[in-house]
Amino acid sequence: MPRDADHSRLPRPPGAAVDFGWPAEDGTALFDCQACGACCSYSADWPRFSTEDDAQLDRIPAELVAADQSGMRCEGGRCSALSGQVGRHTACGIYDLRPDVCRACMPGGDDCLMARAAHGLT
Ligand code: SF4
Ligand code: SF4
Repeated sequence: MPRDADHSRLPRPPGAAVDFGWPAEDGTALFDCQACGACCSYSADWPRFSTEDDAQLDRIPAELVAADQSGMRCEGGRCSALSGQVGRHTACGIYDLRPDVCRACMPGGDDCLMARAAHGLT
């Protein structure tokens, strides 16, 4: 499966709708990704392939990959691997196989906050 060779100009990555946000000063989680999923349902341009090797990409089910193989298949802005209802309960269906961009987004980061705001989550 070919990789997108021009990822340097792509928007910054989405996060993963599974992990909890990093701990706040009081030790509580900042955001619960499992009750969010906003970044996985924000833009079809976000869950793009970038630094993965071919072996990693080949493990992603073909039906979840975009026709041009540039990233995850999306319906509108929503990644096809996302299940559940954004803002209530969500999960990534390929969490262990998810693209690197998804691993790079940190709960509470700029991209996270932008995606959450787009879904009315504060
Ligand atoms: S692959 Fe998983 S973590 Fe990445 S955008 Fe899709 S649902 Fe979210
Ligand atoms: S937008 Fe933030 S809190 Fe929501 S799933 Fe993505 S990283 Fe987690």
